[in-house]
Amino acid sequence: MESLSFLVTRKCNACCLGCPVEKNSKKMTPEVFKKAAGVLFPFISKYSVVKFFGGEPLFEFPLICYAYLHLKKKGFSGTFEVGTNGLLLDKQKSLWFREHTDIQVNFNAGFSPTEYALSIKNAIWNLCVYPKHIDTALSTLFSLANVLSGTAHRINILPASYCLWTPADLAKFSFILPKMLDYILKKGLSVENINRKGRIPLFNDGLAVDTDGTIYTSNICLAIIPKHIKQNLIFNPKKESYKITVNDLIEIFGFDNTVSAYASGRILEKYVS
Ligand code: SF4
Repeated sequence: MESLSFLVTRKCNACCLGCPVEKNSKKMTPEVFKKAAGVLFPFISKYSVVKFFGGEPLFEFPLICYAYLHLKKKGFSGTFEVGTNGLLLDKQKSLWFREHTDIQVNFNAGFSPTEYALSIKNAIWNLCVYPKHIDTALSTLFSLANVLSGTAHRINILPASYCLWTPADLAKFSFILPKMLDYILKKGLSVENINRKGRIPLFNDGLAVDTDGTIYTSNICLAIIPKHIKQNLIFNPKKESYKITVNDLIEIFGFDNTVSAYASGRILEKYVS
């Protein structure tokens, strides 16, 4: 089953190393959401999960609430995910997430967990490991796992995609990764990666609706990509969906960065399966 993503805003209040998102001030309106949802509804049974992404999607929290209720009312019976850095999470938003346990909140582990984040039951933490900052990821993991111990939160380890990993970086990642996984398990937590595997690193082939309502056949539309590739990705219900190729990835991110994404992903697969 594939996922369906809505990019509710391209605005973000952070500046993460290696962020793949093309950021600007555009946001999705309720009218744009409703129109896109109407177009997609005949296909909705194909999808088991609806994801709300940005930028930072909590800038558009009222739209997320509206979209969630709208899809439920129309009969969508799958689950939901919201990918956030958590900086805008407050009492009101965390209460809403607590009340709606079919929404999984995907936190960025680059930002420390707050009491509001910890109060949410259904959550995972995406820990990005950058090739030149592997030690930092290890210490972040140690403190994060200590704080999360006793909760049902899971940890998702993500080697940074589409940036250069040298052979020395890959060797170090191979050495450190089993220690990270052991520590997660020792703290009684689980590793989310087991449930998440894609055809291409980082992105997925499910439909993605941009802020302006354009529907693409991959959520790679959130990155800066050449016009002709973006054009190929526009969804046409009468045609078979275009699937991004390795050559496209090389054109978008460069050869070395694409090879690096597969190489670091291969190491992850070796230890997490
Ligand atoms: S929080 Fe997400 S969208 Fe914002 S800069 Fe970081 S990775 Fe990019």
